[in-house]
Amino acid sequence: MLTCTFQRLAAVAALTLLAACASTPAARPAAEGVTARVERSGGTWTARLDLDRDAPVWAFVRSALLRETRQPWRPARWTVRTPGVTLERIGDYDVLRSLDGGPVPRRIDIVLTHGSGDLEADYQPTLMFSDGTRALFSEQFNLVPLPSLEAARALPRDLNGLDLPGGPTAVTWRDRDGLVMVGGRRQREATTREADTYVLFGAARVVGGEGVAAVVDPNLPVWLGEHLRGFTPRVMAHYRERLGPAGDDTPTLMVAWNGPRAGLTSMGGSVLPGLIVMSFEGEGVLAPSPPILQRARWFIGHEAAHFWLGSDGLRYAFAREAWITEGGADLMAIRAMGAVEPDFDVAAELQREADECVPLMAAGVESAPERGEHRAHYACGALFWLALESWSQRGGEGDILALVRRFHGQQTDGVLSRADWLAELTRLSGSDAAARQVARWLDQGASAPASELAAFLRAAGTPARAEGERLILG
Ligand SMILES: [Zn+2]
Repeated sequence: MLTCTFQRLAAVAALTLLAACASTPAARPAAEGVTARVERSGGTWTARLDLDRDAPVWAFVRSALLRETRQPWRPARWTVRTPGVTLERIGDYDVLRSLDGGPVPRRIDIVLTHGSGDLEADYQPTLMFSDGTRALFSEQFNLVPLPSLEAARALPRDLNGLDLPGGPTAVTWRDRDGLVMVGGRRQREATTREADTYVLFGAARVVGGEGVAAVVDPNLPVWLGEHLRGFTPRVMAHYRERLGPAGDDTPTLMVAWNGPRAGLTSMGGSVLPGLIVMSFEGEGVLAPSPPILQRARWFIGHEAAHFWLGSDGLRYAFAREAWITEGGADLMAIRAMGAVEPDFDVAAELQREADECVPLMAAGVESAPERGEHRAHYACGALFWLALESWSQRGGEGDILALVRRFHGQQTDGVLSRADWLAELTRLSGSDAAARQVARWLDQGASAPASELAAFLRAAGTPARAEGERLILG
């Protein structure tokens, strides 16, 4: 599961984009479970939770922080109406707990408000369209019962592989003023459970097109909407041609516009089964400019790549191994852009990865998100894939798309683990030296990143050199 953010906070001449893309675990399903009813009536949004057992503490499984402020979003946006219950942050989770230490009442009423802003490692809870349309992430009400606050504090950040009580909440969605849309279908009310999707409340129009159905904010800058609608099917067709079909043949593209905030250029997005969602914000995207166009193309290429690597296609085993799926999607996007957009500057994008990775290599790449350095998974992951691709091409086995296609054939469980990836590097390079080097970087980082990476890439056949602290490709 993936979500990616690229944001420029200051209107500076050089396009410096911060990025945070990440991935989050899903809860293990249980036999019965919590149910929720989410309703909009006029301007009021409510959620009624019906818990299925007694517990003094319930933790929201999806509790990522807001990327910009590193604060939890629920306590600021949700108000618990049920007496004797409070919503607060404990450890890495938003929790509901009873004030008297007894079981939380089985029925909890909450008033919801919405806000924009990406999360550090998860899907935005709400996509805010400028006409009042809202799309809510379906998994934000998943809860796990806990015996104590200490247990909440001890809950690890990555729940992948843990067997937890509770499970995905069955949520019924209802708009008293209209219809809700789930999976491209508008209906009076809909119930989802582990659907991993966005539920749309509002009138935003669905525009059909060749290879993509789009729900685009009516106030999105026109050039951007046209470009997204035009470009997305082209890059999808390219991936399909090289990699074969990926799940849903006509994905839905949901694009929200959060307004022209001064000094800001922001693109956020993520993919879910059959769905690409994006939010744009800031005066920086009002007018077309070559750097923004380059970013927007690359961004779509990255998100679309996840249909084959990182989402339904091939998943990582653990969140710390997201450098495989995020770095891979980055390089896939660069290769796809290079193929379908003649003026796309491939060398500049590869150099950007080098410039972003090197300063983040001082400590282990896999633990970078714990330090708030999510971007290491993307940029350093892309450089590791670049070396794997070089070895592959030297052996006559093709580029990253050929590699991903081969992994699809090999990884019959749908998981591309670190061990699988490193084994491929060993096979293609003919010894385990490169794999041992990557493992060291993943676990410990590098003492001289630029020169170590330059030597590593040169050995694979990619021209690279260190100039002081900088890694220069080409
Ligand atoms: Zn991504």
